Amino acid sequence: MSKGNIGVTSANIFPVIKKFLYSDHEIFLRELVSNAVDATQKLKTLASVGEYKGELGEVKVRVSVDKKKGTLTISDRGIGMTAEEIDKYINQIAFSGAEEFLEKYKNDAQAIIGHFGLGFYSSFMVSKKVEIFTQSHKEGTTAQHWSCKGDPEYTLEDTIKSDRGTDIVLHIDDENNDFLEESKIQELLSKYCKFLPVEIVFGKKKEWKDGKDVETDEDNVINNTNPAWTRKPADLKEEDYSAFYRELNPMSEDPLFHIHLNVDYPFNLTGILYFPKIKNNIDMQRNKIQLYCNQVYVTDHVENIVPEYLTLLHGVIDSPDIPLNVSRSYLQSDANVKKISSHITKKVADRLAEIFKADRPQFEEKWDNLKIFIQYGMLSDEKFYERGEKFALLKNVDGKYFTFDEYKTLVGENQKDKNGDVIYLYANNSDEQYSYIQHAKDKGYDVLIMDGQLDVHVVSQLEQKFEKTRFVRVDSDVIDKIIQKDDVAKVSLSENQRDALVSVFESQLPSMEKANFIVTFEQLSATANPVFITQNEFMRRMKDMSALQGGMMSFYGEMPDSFNLVVNTAHPVIEKLLTDEETACGNEVSPIATELSAVKEKQEKLKESHKGKKDEEIPVAEKDELSELSKQMDELESKKKTVYKAFAAENKQVRQLIDLALLANNMLKGEALANFVKRSVELL
Ligand code: ADP
Repeated sequence: MSKGNIGVTSANIFPVIKKFLYSDHEIFLRELVSNAVDATQKLKTLASVGEYKGELGEVKVRVSVDKKKGTLTISDRGIGMTAEEIDKYINQIAFSGAEEFLEKYKNDAQAIIGHFGLGFYSSFMVSKKVEIFTQSHKEGTTAQHWSCKGDPEYTLEDTIKSDRGTDIVLHIDDENNDFLEESKIQELLSKYCKFLPVEIVFGKKKEWKDGKDVETDEDNVINNTNPAWTRKPADLKEEDYSAFYRELNPMSEDPLFHIHLNVDYPFNLTGILYFPKIKNNIDMQRNKIQLYCNQVYVTDHVENIVPEYLTLLHGVIDSPDIPLNVSRSYLQSDANVKKISSHITKKVADRLAEIFKADRPQFEEKWDNLKIFIQYGMLSDEKFYERGEKFALLKNVDGKYFTFDEYKTLVGENQKDKNGDVIYLYANNSDEQYSYIQHAKDKGYDVLIMDGQLDVHVVSQLEQKFEKTRFVRVDSDVIDKIIQKDDVAKVSLSENQRDALVSVFESQLPSMEKANFIVTFEQLSATANPVFITQNEFMRRMKDMSALQGGMMSFYGEMPDSFNLVVNTAHPVIEKLLTDEETACGNEVSPIATELSAVKEKQEKLKESHKGKKDEEIPVAEKDELSELSKQMDELESKKKTVYKAFAAENKQVRQLIDLALLANNMLKGEALANFVKRSVELL
C-alpha cells in the first residue's frame, strides 16, 4: 500500500470544493457518469481497432444507492485504470495560479471544474470519502483500491476485483444525504444523462401490481443512446422527428416545422430545432432548447449561444466545441460560440425560405403561428430581416396573404395619396373596426389585419424600411382624409353655426373614464355617416407602444384616449339639425348674440385705443373696464351655451347620433347601451 499527498501546487483544493462550490452540487453526478461513459467508449474503440482482444460483454454503466451504508456507486465496464494511471490522472492535479482563479470564480462551480479538469474531484462536493475500485483492461495488471477522505492524503493499494472496469464509491456526507434518495438520483440522471451514448442503468424497472410498485427483472435504463439528432436526416421520417419532439416536450402540441442541423466545418454541431406553435404569448415559451456536448447535457440556458429570438425554438444543440463546463461569461466571449450563433441563424432563415418556396400553401396555413417568431427575428436582427423580407407575409382582413413585394404591387398605385405617399391601411380588430374597413373597401382599398403582439413594432419598422409608405389604422380618420386624393371639400359653416353645433354635441357627449372627445367637422358626402368617431394614429400608436414597453413611454400610457367626434356637415340629418336648432333657439339666441357683438365691439375699440401705449400709460379705470367686458362676454357665451344645451337635451336625435357613432366603435356599453336601445324604440 502506498500513501501520498495529492499533488496540488498551491492551496488545498478540498476546502475550495467543499466550501465554495455550493451552488451546483448536483453536477458531480454528470461528471462521474460521463467519465464512466468515456471509459466505456474508449474500450469499445480499442476493441474495434483490435487493440483490446478480450470479450466486451455487456457494457452498461450502473448507478446504485445503498442508503444503509450511505453510499452512491457508479460502475462501468470500461478501460479501468492501472496504479500508474491513477497516479497520473487522479493524484496529480497540477495547476498554477489556482488561488486567484478560485477567488474570482468561487460561485461558479462550472467554471472551476472546467478550468482545472476537476470532473472526478467534484465528487468531494457531496462526499466525506471517495473510493475507487478499478481493474484495468490491460493484461497482467492488478486491481487497485484508491481511497481519500477529502484531505490531501490518499491511500492506494492492490485489491481484488473480478470484473474489468471501475467502481466509484461515494460516501455521501450528512449535509448532502438527499443524494441517497432514489427519486433524486432518478431525477438527476434523467436531466443530465438522458441521451448519453452508453446505456445508464439505475436499478430495475418497476411495475404497478396489487396496489404497489414491484420491481421487475428488467433494467431501468435511463437514456436513449441513439437520439434522433445523432442520426442522419436521410434515415429519419417525419414521425421520428415528431416522436423525438414528444420525448423532449411530453406535454406540448406538435411543432410546426423542424430543422436538422448538421455541420462539421468550421466547427462541429448537430441538433434538431423545432418551431413550436406560439400564437400570441412569447414569454411562455423560452428555454426549451437544450445544449449538449457529445450527448452530455450541459444546460438549457442557451441565451448566449443563440440570438434571443431563437430561444423561442425548442430542441437540442450538440457541439463538442462548446466546452462541457461552461460559465456564462465564457460563452459570451467565445469565438466558436459566436460562429455557432450566426450559423444557426442562417440555417433557420434558409429553412423557412425553403419551406416557403416549396410549399407556400403550407407556409401560409402555419403563418399565424410562425409570424411572431419571424417578426421577432426581423425586428431584432438586421441579417434576419434581409432574409425574412422574402418570405414574411402580410395578411389582409379577408385572410389573404401577400409577400411585401406582392402587397406593394397590389396597393402601390391605388392607395397613393396626392403627395405620392402610399398608405397601407390596417385594422387590429376586424369586428370592432368593421364599418371603417367597409368604407375603405367601398373605395376599392385593401385593409391589412395587424393583430399580433409585435405588430405595433412591425408597423414602425416597415415604415422605416419601405419608401414613402405610411401605415394608418382605418379608424384613425375619415377614409378620404387618410388617403387624400384631392383637396377635401371645405366645411361651409358660419362661425355661429359652428358654435351652435359644437355646443349641441358637446353637451351630449358621454363622460367616460380616460377618454376625451373633441367635436370636429368634415364636409363629406351625403351618403357617408352623419357622425362617427376617429382616433389619431400618432397618439394611439404612442399609447400602444407604451403599453408594451413602459418606462420612458409611460407618459403616453397615462394620457386619456383622445377621440374625434366627426360631424359630417354634408349629411341631410345634420343639415336638418342645424335648421331645427336655428328655429328653436333663434329667438333666444339672437338678443344674446346682439349683446355679445356690442360688447365685443366695445372691447375692440378700447383695445385699439391702447395700441402703442405702455402698460403704465393705460388708466386703471380702462383696465378695469376691459376685464369687466371680458367677464360679460364669458357670461353671455355661457348663456348661449345653456340655450343650445337645453335644445340638445330635448332633441333626442343628438344623443342618438352620438350613440350610433359609439356603437359603430364598440364603445357603447352597459347603461348607455340600454338607454340607447330604449330611445331607439321610442323614436320608432
Ligand atoms: P477529465 O474527465 O476532464 O479528464 P476527470 O478528473 O473527470 O477529468 O478525470 C481524470 C481522468 O481520470 C480521466 O481523464 C480518465 O483518464 C480517468 N478516469 C476518471 N474516471 C474514470 C473511469 N471511470 N474509468 C477510467 N478512467 C477514469
